[in-house]
Amino acid sequence: MRSGKSAEIKAGCLIVGDGRIMENANIGVRDGWIVEVSTGKLKGDYEELVDLSSKYVMPGLIDAHVHIRYGLKPDTEPKSDDYQTVRSLENARKALHAGVTSLGDAGAIRNVAFSVRNAVNDGVAVGPRLFVSGEMITMTGGRSKTPGQRLEVDGADSARKATRGLLMYHGADFIKLGATGAISSPHTGPRHPQLTVEEMSACVDEAHKCGKKVHAHCYGEKGISNSLEAGVDVIVHGQTLTEEHIRVMKQRSMVLMPTLKTFCGHMDHLGEGGVHDRIITTGIWEETKPNFRNALEKGVTIAMGTDAGMPDNAFGDNPLDLGYMVDWGMTPMQAIVAGTINAAYSLGVDDHLGTLEQGKHADLLVLKKDPRKDISSVWRSLEKIMLNGAWLT
Ligand SMILES: [Zn+2]
Repeated sequence: MRSGKSAEIKAGCLIVGDGRIMENANIGVRDGWIVEVSTGKLKGDYEELVDLSSKYVMPGLIDAHVHIRYGLKPDTEPKSDDYQTVRSLENARKALHAGVTSLGDAGAIRNVAFSVRNAVNDGVAVGPRLFVSGEMITMTGGRSKTPGQRLEVDGADSARKATRGLLMYHGADFIKLGATGAISSPHTGPRHPQLTVEEMSACVDEAHKCGKKVHAHCYGEKGISNSLEAGVDVIVHGQTLTEEHIRVMKQRSMVLMPTLKTFCGHMDHLGEGGVHDRIITTGIWEETKPNFRNALEKGVTIAMGTDAGMPDNAFGDNPLDLGYMVDWGMTPMQAIVAGTINAAYSLGVDDHLGTLEQGKHADLLVLKKDPRKDISSVWRSLEKIMLNGAWLT
């Protein structure tokens, strides 16, 4: 990833990413990093002065749950891994130009997402930073009816071996587990638990040894309980959260990734069949909003994750996830925090991403309008994007 010239950026309003605001702040950027931030004079000398004193500057968005290999509609015939890799690069590019400077890919097939991540990191292609789980770990038949199509495990030893393989052979950035069936896999019941506590505990043990987070795909109540017992870090979807789940998540500083863009998006396509209608027929939909609001009111950490790549859930409009969060009761600033530092935390990269502070990567967005007044300013008034200290053109 290339970095641009060193620069002093004068920001009219700096949205730090953790809920704080700094008026008339100066940001020093060198070699892709933020080296100082101050409302006074900067200490360093910089090659460029960038005057954004009438603008709003915020961290680049982090969409921590996507599936970059998919097209907008389900494939009518199988696509090769090469084809899916090319499509992934294009999806990642679209997200970047919408202001998403980091993506978390949660369950590509075989090596597709690893290849894309490595190509971007090597500078072969321009793209957002990619944090990649590799294949989702599921029980046999848990996601696909075709044998050998997924990383299937049975028993704790098998789960441990699969996790080690992802971490050691491929450098997985986090681990994704299938704790329940899925709406997008019609042969499964979204409320039915899948991986056992013992299987998930083995995965968590191996991931945590490497300092990596574990995300669990959960719809049904039992699957969430199993995930909490196994010690996962992030509950993805989480439609059936109970008071007890919320209490434990809050106590352990766990993350809820509600993937609202995908859920709310289904409602716009009702009657078209497939995954859109299953959200209604499985009865999962009604429980989503009250449980999300309860988790929000109780102070659970909530992070952005669009599930982009699911049917009709496009790359390029990823920031709409923040709009749905506000529609469902968050303040615009809470939504921004969900899309910046909380999303970085969910991926275990909050030490170097997620806020505009000294020691963080210089990934930032320049907005014409104040997103605290209207969250849609994040996408409607986006003027410039800096990735790793260089402006995108
Ligand atoms: Zn997903």
